[in-house]
Amino acid sequence: MKNKSQILIVDDSKLNRASLSDILKDGYEILEAENGKEALEILESHVETIAVIILDLVMPVMDGFGFLEKFGENEAYKYIPVIVTTGSDDVESEKRCLKLGVWDFIPKKFHPDIIHFRVLNAIQKSKIDVLKYDLLTGIYNEQNFYLETREMLDRHKEQTFAVIHYDVDRFKMINSLYGAAEGDHLICQVAKAIDSVLEGRDATTYGRISGDIFAICMSYDKKQEIEEVLQEIDGNLKRHETPYYLETSAGIYLLENNDWEVPIICDKAAIAARRCKGQYLLHAAFYTPEMGLEMLREQKIIDEMDTALQENQFVVYYQPKYEVKTGRPYGAEALVRWQKEDGSFVSPGEFIPIFEKNGFITRLDYYVWEKVCQFIRSELDEGREPAPISVNVSRVNLYTPKFLETIVDLVEKYKVPPHYLYLELTETVFSDSEKLIREAVDNLHKVGFTIMMDDFGSGYSSLNVLKDIHLDIIKIDREFLPRSEEDIRSEKILEAIIRMANSLKLPIVVEGVEEAHQVELLSRLGCDYIQGYYFAKPMPQAQYRDLILANGA
Ligand code: C2E
Ligand code: CA
Ligand code: CA
Repeated sequence: MKNKSQILIVDDSKLNRASLSDILKDGYEILEAENGKEALEILESHVETIAVIILDLVMPVMDGFGFLEKFGENEAYKYIPVIVTTGSDDVESEKRCLKLGVWDFIPKKFHPDIIHFRVLNAIQKSKIDVLKYDLLTGIYNEQNFYLETREMLDRHKEQTFAVIHYDVDRFKMINSLYGAAEGDHLICQVAKAIDSVLEGRDATTYGRISGDIFAICMSYDKKQEIEEVLQEIDGNLKRHETPYYLETSAGIYLLENNDWEVPIICDKAAIAARRCKGQYLLHAAFYTPEMGLEMLREQKIIDEMDTALQENQFVVYYQPKYEVKTGRPYGAEALVRWQKEDGSFVSPGEFIPIFEKNGFITRLDYYVWEKVCQFIRSELDEGREPAPISVNVSRVNLYTPKFLETIVDLVEKYKVPPHYLYLELTETVFSDSEKLIREAVDNLHKVGFTIMMDDFGSGYSSLNVLKDIHLDIIKIDREFLPRSEEDIRSEKILEAIIRMANSLKLPIVVEGVEEAHQVELLSRLGCDYIQGYYFAKPMPQAQYRDLILANGA
């Protein structure tokens, strides 16, 4: 049986509750509360099912006004109609009630027909509003945002407008790590932040499109106005403490023509918003036609990725690392290459970020790890002792529940002891959620993997992380390499990092080394390993094998 709609009767008089209940119990399920406080408690767990509240004003503990005040503070209750039962013609309290959002009144001398009609009317009216407004946040829903925006654009033909796509970065992750209730709460906070900045602004509409995605359409004279509005919204939002790192992205599309279809305009703003994703400090971007082309390129990559994986178009290259002391190769980093059917290469810089966004990276990473395991297996089978190969582990894996199991199963499948594999986690992973990352690293350690922090220094969290999470090796980003022999500042910073790593007994790899003066410096500073074009570029497996054979490994 589908749940009947519920009516919540709030009245301290048992008799009143009973007679109302008698009148309404055929069509509805009746809930009863003796006072405002009880009513709020019931509401909390029945917000989805309560169709109407019938409220008495004079009650002990918490009276009707007290209830209405609390009730009005909760956005989620916005579409639940309240009907107040009145004993006398007290104009003042009626006024106060209306101000507090009461929909209707019924006289205390209950007349069954009148009550039926009033309740029915209230429910019907609330349903119409439900169709227009987003239930969770109370601002326009998608359809109504499109409609209202269309009308607004038609009304203001000569005015210039911007559409903004606004969303929360990594919202899905927040939702799965902190629970749907926290996710909902965050969505409401965003809506509130937008609402408080834009409510009452001329020629402006805004609504929730879906999930954590909001849209704003606003008139403007100067671009600066748009940026100011966004800053204000962000400022409002970040006033709330969150247990996670909260970032938002805004994509802005400036309308050239007010006649365009609103959903299409919103798509363009969404394209611009993607531009800011995952980019530190860039939280708003204006749409440009090049972004549209970029989208097409992305789409093409997405269309081709499955076939490419099936047809082994992804090839693993190996870039050797060199031991500074001996100048000999020791191990390598596995780097994926996409070689298309026509022989052309697509750079990982182009496809990896796309696969990280759509999740395909977990399949590609697995593919690479498997190729590397096969390679190590074949070396072992031929009686050699291969140096460890490091593989990249995209952050997306860490949010995949079966990640640990998957990688353990894989090394077991090829009987590769885990110490032959180094796992490279990029530094920015460590700013996500410390607890989650620490657990992941601990678990990987327990089963015997070596963990490297990749791109050390490219993000913001580096130093803190070393204090809290036990990593085995750090790989220093090439940003830190002095570009010339005169670049003394870079040299000093590099020196300090190496000294610190040494004192923590953390081996160091410096990557991106291209020039002799850099090698000379690193050797002087006591760096352990170097990876870079100076020694070798990434190469196919066979060539890497020849290289280590030639070096007597
Ligand atoms: P990364 O992990 O930081 O890898 C190092 C990148 O620096 C590689 O670029 C490498 O070819 C390049 N490199 C090495 N030495 C030098 C040098 O001396 N000079 C210069 N200019 N570059 C140097 P690549 O292969 O294009 O890969 C780019 C990024 O794509 C990687 O950065 C990594 O984040 C990602 N990637 C590559 N393969 C995989 C993979 O299998 N899985 C995942 N998740 N990411 C991968
Ligand atoms: Ca790497
Ligand atoms: Ca790196």
